Amino acid sequence: MNIHEYQAKALLRSYGAPVSDGRVVLKAEEAKTAAGEMDGPLWVVKAQIHAGGRGKGHFKEAEAGEKGGVRLAKSVSEAAEMAKQMLGRTLITHQTGPAGKQVNRIYIEDGSDIARELYLALLVDRQSSRISFVASTEGGMDIEEVAAKTPEKIVSFSVDPASGLSDFHGRRVAFALGLTGGQVKQCVSLIKILYKAFVEKDMEMLEINPLIVTPDGNLKCLDAKMGFDGNALYRHADIMALRDETEEDPKELAASKFDLNYIALDGEIGCMVNGAGLAMATMDIIKLYGAEPANFLDVGGGATKEKVTEAFKIITSDPNVKGILVNIFGGIMRCDVIAEGVVSAVKEVGLKVPLVVRLEGTNVEEGKAIINNSGLNVIAAENLKDGAQKIVKAVKG
Ligand code: GDP
Ligand code: MG
Repeated sequence: MNIHEYQAKALLRSYGAPVSDGRVVLKAEEAKTAAGEMDGPLWVVKAQIHAGGRGKGHFKEAEAGEKGGVRLAKSVSEAAEMAKQMLGRTLITHQTGPAGKQVNRIYIEDGSDIARELYLALLVDRQSSRISFVASTEGGMDIEEVAAKTPEKIVSFSVDPASGLSDFHGRRVAFALGLTGGQVKQCVSLIKILYKAFVEKDMEMLEINPLIVTPDGNLKCLDAKMGFDGNALYRHADIMALRDETEEDPKELAASKFDLNYIALDGEIGCMVNGAGLAMATMDIIKLYGAEPANFLDVGGGATKEKVTEAFKIITSDPNVKGILVNIFGGIMRCDVIAEGVVSAVKEVGLKVPLVVRLEGTNVEEGKAIINNSGLNVIAAENLKDGAQKIVKAVKG
């Protein structure tokens, strides 16, 4: 789960990290008061969406020369005017995709003077099973671009969880960032703060881009992106409260409410499968026969008829879906339950695309009978290969 920049900064502030003073604004009328609570002479007006690259992004239907989602203002009234201009509009960045994201919140921040822009991130490195630091002198830009063009400018190392974090980790980051004198001490203290917050709050990712050095030589977190481990959220009610559902894919949101493992993808064939391994195999074989999966969906081992119905509704609500492949191996999950779920879902939402069903395992005969007696236009498949070939043929002709 991701949160907004202003929420991430509030969390960092509570841990003692250096961040600027700021106010979040939901309505244009609030902007002037909010900006007026800071002294200036510089204000930063920042669109809050769960995506980076806002500064270089552009608004949908932007006027010629109009700036992106991070703007500098020289007065309270200018800041208020900018907030008003951005609220409610769609911001498109390289991370939002071409559809962009609607801006519903604006963060007005006390502007900083910048001497240097640096990059710093913490993440869970799956390869080493440790928390890793990533640091670079090339802050303020796209780190993917730095990695592609000048990989030698990125320093990365992980922390051994047995011995934990020490001052030398902080110094290593400081030297990688080219910091000197008192900045090294500040960096060591910042690294401790970030690591503590990361571990205590079960983060997956924490990116400060840019981390700046101010002209008077102080470090400050000017931007903050935070992601949390969804499986640990049950023990962080404070983080759960920061969830902004309007930022999430509505299909994935519905799936999470019914405890379905669903990820939306770009293809045309909707998949309903039980078990993550079988779901991946199903996606692979769809690709093998020349089509693309529209989603990953694991209905789980103990799915009920209601859950299957809900899963079916989520799949059919995707306009890109041109055909559906149901591939169930009944072990714990019974084929008749899946069949009942599919039939009841189709009766409820209708079926406008071809549907191929492959059932195998526990109660398979009962399951097939339910489908065959339903009067639905379902294409039966004998096995995984047959199912994949039939759905690809039905969609592509
Ligand atoms: P992003 O584009 O979504 O990554 O948003 P950022 O918060 O990183 O802002 C983009 C850029 O705006 C930064 O890299 C800075 O160059 C600039 N910026 C942000 N805040 C300030 C500020 O307080 N003062 C100045 N001078 N520039 C800022
Ligand atoms: Mg940034």
